Amino acid sequence: MTLKLRITSAAEKQIRSGHPWIFSDSILDQNREGQMGEMGIIYDKKDKFLAAGFFDPDSPIRLRILHAGKPTNIDAAWWTERLESAVARRAPLFDHQTTGFRWINGENDGWPGLVLDRYADTLVLKLYTAAWLPRLREITGLIRQRLQAHRIVLRLSRNIQETVLREWRKNDGEILYGPPLEQPIIFLETGLQFEADVLRGHISGFFLDQRENRRKVGSRARGRSVLNAFSFTGGFSLYAAKGGAASITDLDISRHALEGGRRNFQLNESIPEIARCRRTEIKADAFEWLNENSKKRFGLIILDPPSLAKRESERAGAIEAYTHLASAGIAHLEPGGLLVACSCSAHVSALEFFESVRRAASKSRRRFSELETTGHAPDHPATFEEANYLKAAYLGF
Ligand code: SAH
Repeated sequence: MTLKLRITSAAEKQIRSGHPWIFSDSILDQNREGQMGEMGIIYDKKDKFLAAGFFDPDSPIRLRILHAGKPTNIDAAWWTERLESAVARRAPLFDHQTTGFRWINGENDGWPGLVLDRYADTLVLKLYTAAWLPRLREITGLIRQRLQAHRIVLRLSRNIQETVLREWRKNDGEILYGPPLEQPIIFLETGLQFEADVLRGHISGFFLDQRENRRKVGSRARGRSVLNAFSFTGGFSLYAAKGGAASITDLDISRHALEGGRRNFQLNESIPEIARCRRTEIKADAFEWLNENSKKRFGLIILDPPSLAKRESERAGAIEAYTHLASAGIAHLEPGGLLVACSCSAHVSALEFFESVRRAASKSRRRFSELETTGHAPDHPATFEEANYLKAAYLGF
């Protein structure tokens, strides 16, 4: 018996306007209990088909929409077509100089709760809902066939790891296909070599979402002394060095991240600008370091902290923290310096973030101009509000 659901009219309206989630508290009626990953069908008030999606009894996002509108057959051909359209969207974006990027960006590409990242010839399949597990073989087979992967690695978001291990005997970091992996993968981004720890690293091993901002930083770095705060493995630093920066300071709280940054520099030493660039590491809390080292000056400062608002209740505090952080950054800028302030908090809107940085700039009483603001990279499209997390502001002083 098909799993049928009815939802509130507010939720109906949202689904009609393309929103991909139905929360448990929007469900009015359900004909029976649903299983993890089974297809749930939503009927509207007039008893007409509205949408079909994956049921997830463990998540407040109870149904993730796969298809809305006219009824359709969700079969192998349908999945193939959906993969083709995600692949076609990326085809014009990258040449052989960039072998690390996102093939599938979850809901935004019509694959709710599933991300597929490429690192050279290894693909990383990251799941945010256990609803994919019943069809993992089918999906992996499809991906292998279309993308000719040498290896596919499974990554699981923390909140589903226990269930997936118990019910499906699959682990975070498990290799689904291809040879074992003893070392980080080395891939290319804009001709630069980077390491990615795809088995254990953040998200899928690297912050692919910052590529466009890294490119912009590279083109604005010539001759500057650069502070890369929250540097992780030095993504911004490598671009700045290649772009002719005089020196780089990587500042991160994690020794592991700084070591990765050092290895990434070594990997690219055949590039003369990188070989010439002086690199320094500081292992410290960036908020504290900026406050305690008030005499140090830089020509370009990048601030890319982890999310400062993990939930809605932290939003106001995060907005204030962004202002504080930007103020601390501005205080370390030389005359003529450039600030690049980033936010990856989904709960803080682009406007709220840009305003918080502008407030810091105004408070500094220095003359400044807003050079540009940016959002999502084209391989990380965001088609609904909750998916829209990344923003950056470029301010010249
Ligand atoms: N800009 C990076 C991504 C940054 S991710 C890139 O383009 O790849 C956020 C980084 O902030 C992580 O490396 C984490 O170790 C670091 N971090 C978290 N809290 C910190 C703190 N209080 N001080 C300094 N670094 C911190």
